[in-house]
Amino acid sequence: MTTISENLQAVRTRIEAAALTRGRRPGDIALLAVSKTWPATAVREAAAAGQTAFGENYVQEGLAKIAELRSLGLQWHFIGPLQSNKTRDVAEAFDWVHAVDRLKIAERLSAQRPEERPPLQICLQVNISGEDSKSGLSPDAVATLAHEVALLPRLQLRGLMAIPEPVADFEQQRQAFRALRELQENLIKDGLPLDTLSMGMSDDLEAAIAEGATIVRVGSAIFGERGKA
Ligand SMILES: *Cc1c(COP(=O)(O)O)cnc(C)c1O
Repeated sequence: MTTISENLQAVRTRIEAAALTRGRRPGDIALLAVSKTWPATAVREAAAAGQTAFGENYVQEGLAKIAELRSLGLQWHFIGPLQSNKTRDVAEAFDWVHAVDRLKIAERLSAQRPEERPPLQICLQVNISGEDSKSGLSPDAVATLAHEVALLPRLQLRGLMAIPEPVADFEQQRQAFRALRELQENLIKDGLPLDTLSMGMSDDLEAAIAEGATIVRVGSAIFGERGKA
C-alpha cells in the first residue's frame, strides 16, 4: 500500500503534468485534499507532507477535525450540501464554502460570519450535467444568484463549482467543465471579479485542468477509497 505522502506526491505530479500539457502554470492550480470520512490522523499525515487545504462534506465531522487540528493552521473548505440549520457552524469555523446554491443559505452565512474573521470565500454550485437528483443551480439561474451573493457584506464570491456526472471519456469530461468555464466567463464579462473554478476530482482532474480549473478537489487518490480503509 502507498502512503498518504506518496499519494499526495503522485497527485501533485498529475496536476503539474496536466497544467504543462495545456500551457498553464502548475502554481495556478490549488489542490484541495478531501478528507471526508478520514480521521484527523490522516489529515495530520497529509499536513506533514505539506498539504494545507482540506475539504469536508459533513458539518459535525469537519468541526471535530478543525478543533482537533487547530494548532496546524490549516485552511478548511466546506464542500458538501448545506442546510440552513447548519450555516452558523460553517460560517464560524470554515474558510470557504463551495456548494452554495440558494440565496437564503448565502444570506445566513453572511449574517453569521464572525466580524473578526475575513469574509467567507464562496463558490456557487452549478448542476452542470442537468441531473435531477444532484444539488446545484441550473445554469440559467447562476447569473441572478451570483449578482445577489456578490452584494452580501461578509461573503466574497470567488467563482463556480460543479460535480459533473462521472463519465469515462476524456472529451466528454471536458464538455461539462467547459460549460462551467463559459458560465464563469459570462459572469466576468458582466463585471463580477471571479477567479475560481472549483472542478475536477480523482478521476477527472486532467480534463478539469484542461478547461481552466483553479481548485481541484481530490479525495480517494490521496487518502484511499472511502469505506475500504
Ligand atoms: C468526495 C468529494 C470529492 C472527492 O472525490 P474523489 O473522487 O474521492 O476524489 C470532491 N468534491 C466533492 C464535492 C466531494 O463530495
